[in-house]
Amino acid sequence: MTDTLTPATTTGPATAGSDLSGAATQAYRSALEVIASVEPRIAEATRAELADQRSSLKLIASENYASPATLLTMGTWLSDKYAEGTVGHRFYAGCQNIDTVESVAAEHARELFGAEYAYVQPHSGIDANLVAFWAILAHRVELPELAELGLKNINEMTEAQWETLRHKFGNQRALGMSLDAGGHLTHGFRPNISGKMFHQRSYGTDPQTQRIDYDAVRAAAREFKPLILIAGYSAYPRRVNFAKMREIADEVGATFMVDMAHFAGLVAGKVFTGDEDPVPHAHLVTTTTHKSLRGPRGGMVLATEEYAPSVDRGCPMVLGGPLGNVMAAKAVALAEARTPAFQTYAQAVADNAQTLAGGLLSRGAQLVTGGTDNHLVLIDVSSFGLTGRQAESALLDAGIVTNRNAVPADPNGAWYTSGVRIGTPALTTRGFGAAEFDRVAELIVDVLESTSPATTAAGTPGKAKYVLADGVAERTKAASAEMLGAHPLYAGLEL
Ligand code: PLP
Repeated sequence: MTDTLTPATTTGPATAGSDLSGAATQAYRSALEVIASVEPRIAEATRAELADQRSSLKLIASENYASPATLLTMGTWLSDKYAEGTVGHRFYAGCQNIDTVESVAAEHARELFGAEYAYVQPHSGIDANLVAFWAILAHRVELPELAELGLKNINEMTEAQWETLRHKFGNQRALGMSLDAGGHLTHGFRPNISGKMFHQRSYGTDPQTQRIDYDAVRAAAREFKPLILIAGYSAYPRRVNFAKMREIADEVGATFMVDMAHFAGLVAGKVFTGDEDPVPHAHLVTTTTHKSLRGPRGGMVLATEEYAPSVDRGCPMVLGGPLGNVMAAKAVALAEARTPAFQTYAQAVADNAQTLAGGLLSRGAQLVTGGTDNHLVLIDVSSFGLTGRQAESALLDAGIVTNRNAVPADPNGAWYTSGVRIGTPALTTRGFGAAEFDRVAELIVDVLESTSPATTAAGTPGKAKYVLADGVAERTKAASAEMLGAHPLYAGLEL
């Protein structure tokens, strides 16, 4: 058997869909033995998670399967080193290897995305957004017109100066996409600190087309005059014209920030180019590294040179010490994303989403915006007489893992919702193509058509309980097992 941990130059690096007989099996067996000698329950949970991931249809739009090289990189002693600060400017001694790791990861990020600057320390997407928000505020502090306030470096400001600054700016204003249109909590919504830092207003989507109405965004920006215009989403199934958004930001003097957490893989894989590539248009671009980009869990900020010094203050301003092992895994995943094989993968993610949407539509499902042109699909399950919560649970019973999500102007709110969000990044990594995604669409519609809301004690339909017709879960699981068996996850990895 070949050792496919060694990247093959012609086919690209070994992915979660590759055969991993040999070295990877040995590495994981040994690791689990060592873990089990200390805490067997953790070794067991780790094995069980692999079994669960192998045996379910993972359609969560924000999840993926990282490559063995990326996963293995996280389990090392690079985790043990403190390295607060930036490359060559650390608050701890002996950081030369972390300097190498961080430089290599940043270099790959800059080259891959064509960015002027990359900051790879954020521990997650939320952290990346917080770093970007503080960078924008700090940058404003350095604007010459503020010199008259006696304000200097944000790190050297006294409490009285902070007070002056807060007074000067009054409410910080951020304009981002509304949650029910697909925006993210970190774009100025109350449950997140951004909702406290900023006075937030959101732009929705056109009630008819359910797509972004750029004229409406422009009108809101002119009226609201935001400090930051935010683009990016978690549940919007369409591409965004970032050139147009930048024009709007420039018109009102706003900093333009894009959160590409969901679709970074499509940018990296050159599926989104020109006006749909945020990097040439935004002042700052934030992302996670673990969704369509297929790296370790983490975050990243790309910025223009102008914003770089402010971004560099992320640690210690809002971040703890960087995670050396995770930055190393980011470097490995970003190197993978620079291969032609990743571009093929990214195109397949988008093509498969089209097939999935087409398969659902042709079987009578209703989709927000009527389809997709990115990696995700949002099904409005109200046409099946279900809430998102009921649909999500019934699908899970049948071995299909999705998540409920609000649809625009959702009558069921953010908890029960009327939508189910699904995405193609994970199963595309496993090797699913058009035939499999069409079959997945068929299975989803079968489950939804076979589910009905359970009535409450008062005899009215409830929002959480449901009844899935007998035998549907079993037949769906059997059909999935056939496809999953043909496209094994980490094939050859026998624990
Ligand atoms: N930004 C967007 C658009 C997201 O969808 C998410 C995650 O769901 C995040 C940020 C937060 O990422 P993390 O969970 O890594 O903090």
